[in-house]
Amino acid sequence: MPHVITQSCCSDASCVYACPVNCIHPTPDEPDFHTAEMLYIDPVECVDCGACVTACPVDAIKHDGSLDPSEKVFLELNADFYKEPRPRPLLAPVVPPLQVRAPGAMRVAIVGSGPAAMYAADEVLTIPAARVRMYERLPQPGGLARFGVAPDHRRTRAVSRQFDTITADPRLELVTGVEVGTDVTHQQLLADHDAVIYAVGASTDRPLDVPGADLPGVSSATRFVAWYNGHPDFAAVTFDLSQPRAIVIGNGNVALDVARILTTDPDRLAATDIALHALKALRQSKIEEVVVVGRRGLAQSAFTVPELIGLTSMPDVDVVVSDADLQSLPDTDPRARILRDLPRRPGNRRIVLAYLQSPTAIARTRAGLEIEFARNELVAAADGTTKVKPTGELHTVSAGLVLTSIGYRGRPVTDLPFDDARGTVPHTAGRVDGVAATYVTGWIKRGPTGFIGTNKSCAQETVRSLVADYNSGLLA
Ligand code: NAP
Repeated sequence: MPHVITQSCCSDASCVYACPVNCIHPTPDEPDFHTAEMLYIDPVECVDCGACVTACPVDAIKHDGSLDPSEKVFLELNADFYKEPRPRPLLAPVVPPLQVRAPGAMRVAIVGSGPAAMYAADEVLTIPAARVRMYERLPQPGGLARFGVAPDHRRTRAVSRQFDTITADPRLELVTGVEVGTDVTHQQLLADHDAVIYAVGASTDRPLDVPGADLPGVSSATRFVAWYNGHPDFAAVTFDLSQPRAIVIGNGNVALDVARILTTDPDRLAATDIALHALKALRQSKIEEVVVVGRRGLAQSAFTVPELIGLTSMPDVDVVVSDADLQSLPDTDPRARILRDLPRRPGNRRIVLAYLQSPTAIARTRAGLEIEFARNELVAAADGTTKVKPTGELHTVSAGLVLTSIGYRGRPVTDLPFDDARGTVPHTAGRVDGVAATYVTGWIKRGPTGFIGTNKSCAQETVRSLVADYNSGLLA
């Protein structure tokens, strides 16, 4: 197998279009693109040309001879994807170039400057005469690419090189420190531009609805992430790191990020661009164990396999899973292979992956926090999903810090409709329902799912809708 995709895969699919033999899948037009945890190279078809390596913005693609020992598992993971025959054309799909009806300069305002905004700008600027004005509330651009990616994920952070190239285009004007809806209205943007694209993300978190969730010592993983990444709104926030145990509720990739940062040796974090106030606090931390709690079973874990590989590859942190949870997975499940026979090294900090427990109440005692959990059992729901039912058994666990990591949530956007249940703006292929010349892309469009690069195909759909409307005279 000449080339292999590894942990930092961002799924932007640049490699797919660069590959001359269509050996990287799923492609954005294949049904499993939106559920895949990464992209995979077919070891049999790869011709070792290296085009994908050059195209990848996050240095995720390596030659099989240059894999680190902890990355060898990706050889198997890439090959496994092609075990089942996969009918596919000889050449990768080609994205047809955008064509505008009249050569006049199309002016587009983009609200936000995170990955979704950047990919939208990149797409608009494929039209030679187009102009983009990008509005960012904060003094610096980048959104979650700057304030959401963990500092030890250096290769993922490298995606900002690509975004710097986009903002350096003279046809893009970046306006920072201006909040749309407060400093400038939607109507003003529409008066000055042909169209407005909102790429404002999901800027808050889903609240945990249990008594005591608002106690001091309970916070959200999204606040913790913003804090260690130096987000200006969170510089003054503090977290209690004085007790030996922290609990993270939820087990998505954000939960793994915060568990990793809480347990990594601060000397290793010092070599990253973690915020200095966070590094200082983490140097004083007394945390020895982080328990990441899922309400469903190991098989339903929300984290992805590449991130689990990253977690179990830490040299100075042990990952612990109970035998009962491990036995719930079939041997063929890659998570079983990764979690089996993990080392226990005396003196190491621990990340415990705990399952089938839902928090029911949090109380504060003199010693810290007491979290009550209800034990769950799995039940098959009528819609085919796996849900949980409490068994009636309760237990409590003590901790100094509780971080809820149960998903981001979009906020309503002034002058736009809002779907409160999903936390998104209702749209049709990116066109905001009932509001002329107004579009959405990224998490405010599809909810908080996917990876940085997923926003590329999302932006392509939105900008194609915008250009079609422009060409039909609807934006005049
Ligand atoms: P997520 O993947 O949606 O995970 C949310 C977790 O919260 C799930 O375990 C869910 O359990 C649990 N949960 C939801 N409501 C709950 C409740 N009331 N009580 C207890 N648990 C509850 O969200 P995320 O971790 O915030 O990640 C958001 C997106 O960003 C994901 O697509 C993720 O892959 C991406 N991301 C990627 C990276 C990376 O690639 N390195 C890093 C960070 C984030 P159920 O499954 O039972 O609902």
